[in-house]
Amino acid sequence: MDKKKISKDYLHKIELLEEYNKNYYDKDNPIVSDQEYDLLKKEIIDLENSYKFLNNDRSPTKIVGFKPSKNFEKVKHKVPMLSLGNAFNEEDLNSFEKKIFNFLSLNKTNIIDYSVEPKIDGISASLIYVNGKFIKGLSRGDGVAGEDITQNLKTIGDIPKKVNEKNFPNEIDIRGEVFIENNDFKKISEKFANPRNAASGSLRQKDPAITANIPLKFIAYTYGHAKEMKIYNQTEFLKNLKIWGFKINPFNKKISGVKNLMLNHKNLEEKRKEIAFDIDGIVYKVNDFSLQKRLGFAANAPRWAIAHKFSANSSISEIINIEIQIGRTGALTPVAKIKPVNIGGVIVSNATLHNEDEIIRKDIRIGDTVTVERAGDVIPHVVLVDLKKRKQNSKKFIFPLKCPSCGSKTIKDYNETTKKQDAVRRCASEGFECEKIAIEKIKHFVSKDAFNIDGFGKKIVENFWNLKLVRLPQDIFKLNYKKIEELEGWGKLSVANLKFSIEEKKNISLERFIYSLGIRHIGQENAKLITRHLKRAPNFFRLSEESNIESLSNINGIGITQIQSIKKFFLNKINLKVLSELEKNLTIKDIILINNDGLLRNKTFMLTGKLNGISRAEAKSLIEQNSGKIINNVNKKLDYLIAGEKPTLKKINIAKDWNIKVINQAEWLKMLNKSS
Ligand code: NAD
Repeated sequence: MDKKKISKDYLHKIELLEEYNKNYYDKDNPIVSDQEYDLLKKEIIDLENSYKFLNNDRSPTKIVGFKPSKNFEKVKHKVPMLSLGNAFNEEDLNSFEKKIFNFLSLNKTNIIDYSVEPKIDGISASLIYVNGKFIKGLSRGDGVAGEDITQNLKTIGDIPKKVNEKNFPNEIDIRGEVFIENNDFKKISEKFANPRNAASGSLRQKDPAITANIPLKFIAYTYGHAKEMKIYNQTEFLKNLKIWGFKINPFNKKISGVKNLMLNHKNLEEKRKEIAFDIDGIVYKVNDFSLQKRLGFAANAPRWAIAHKFSANSSISEIINIEIQIGRTGALTPVAKIKPVNIGGVIVSNATLHNEDEIIRKDIRIGDTVTVERAGDVIPHVVLVDLKKRKQNSKKFIFPLKCPSCGSKTIKDYNETTKKQDAVRRCASEGFECEKIAIEKIKHFVSKDAFNIDGFGKKIVENFWNLKLVRLPQDIFKLNYKKIEELEGWGKLSVANLKFSIEEKKNISLERFIYSLGIRHIGQENAKLITRHLKRAPNFFRLSEESNIESLSNINGIGITQIQSIKKFFLNKINLKVLSELEKNLTIKDIILINNDGLLRNKTFMLTGKLNGISRAEAKSLIEQNSGKIINNVNKKLDYLIAGEKPTLKKINIAKDWNIKVINQAEWLKMLNKSS
């Protein structure tokens, strides 16, 4: 065991987690999903459990949240506001209960009652009342001290400003969750990743007038410091909160026994989609206050409570509709529109159903209750249908046999390699004749790896299409800039910028040009192979002649599928017109022969983050042109990691660990004798 290495790795992980905390708690702008965050946290805890010599005050087992922001006055909590331990399954719950039994020396005949409360995914706040009057409100901050956000909290209608009930303690801080309902979140969802960040961002900003405009809600669930309170358990306390004028969670319950907790967890997870606000688990609290007192706290969380989280990579929802999307190559992809659910901190309202065969195989129908999975970067997809929940009047979903966009017949190709029919159904037109395909083709044409026209994103393509400004790729080079200038959101400067970006890209390499046409089966690699073979643009345009196309079969890597696809492309009259128009408008550069003796020879590179003024594709080709090699993950063969803006910290840390040089854009360009 290499102690030094383990300690170094442990510290790296803590530093990374601190970076995540800062972005999540302070900036309200998470840079990783909750799932990734929880995984890293677990890795740290596992390391601590395996190696007793690891110990750090910055460990997630010791800290809470993040230090209060300098934007607000910092105020110490009379009683710290802590975090909660997490449980993910029955085993975790059994171990939680066992620890309680051991700590309290209980025997098997004893029963522990739990107050069971949905864990609202918001931001906790502490409201200090003196003589029934709300005098100060704090955020959790780092648990010891919070931010004074009184003025912002005062704008929330659910927070009583005065409580007149007799048994309301003279001094108490009521704690609960500030949150935003899902429907209200929809209105501001562009600014925030999820309702939690929206609530936190709205609450922790400087101007109370802005907070007042956001419909924040408050649900109370506990207290910190209370003077002479005569309430002896949590369920009683919750009842009193209601009497005192606070909102409490309508799904609160009292339950005993792990099996019953599990059952309730399953039921609530299914009900989650019906609830107006986001919950990410259930909190169990030992109900009896005297037992809570005996159990006390361990490091940063109470021993008497735990959060039983919902899965961070899947959730249950209902299919509202099944829509058919048509891709650039004519593939018909069914997409389930689902009731929005939070999966690991990301709101999901669409889930792919992959293809027709998948729908048939799983018999997926509109109205079905389904499990949706979202793991890592994979597109959310439906994994399971709950047949028990199927409505009686539900009907089988019939996949359209005609293209929903252009009405052409749809077909399933026969795959020569697998000797089976494709699972994917396609619009037979496969070309600009089909509106949806045409829009996708134009999006592809301007995209980063194709023409890379700065500022010409997918939304603009759709907008210009709707305004009939573009119908075919060549229209991009003849745009009516006067008309665009008059459109909402556009001005002289933005139009000038767009014009500049388009003009700049009129000079293009043959390889990019071929790729940008979006011919089915001709991706970047194949475009590169074809370019190497044809060398000059006129040779490409001459592919319309049958014999020339056949010559492509000499290229290693280009097979019958690709050749058939190119043939089909050149047989289409609209495509030929597009080609001839583009040929007139563009300067297509001949192949640049790769230099085997360039400035970067024998050196390997990897990119992370965004480079300034140069796309990733261009950077890669620049490296290759100078005899360098691109590597796609950090491994020992890597010589240089080029870090642009917002790089992946994990990659940088690994690179540093392995003594791989981490350089910035300027340093890399210097290697090429270029200035940034
Ligand atoms: P926690 O999991 O420790 O839970 C404590 C919080 O639960 C309380 O502060 C309170 O706000 C809330 N809560 C809701 N209902 C409650 C109830 N009835 N009783 C008591 N508490 C209740 O919370 P935490 O430490 O703020 O955050 C941990 C979570 O945040 C993790 O799930 C993690 O995934 C996520 N997180 C994500 C990132 C990221 O970058 N994606 C970063 C930090 C934290």
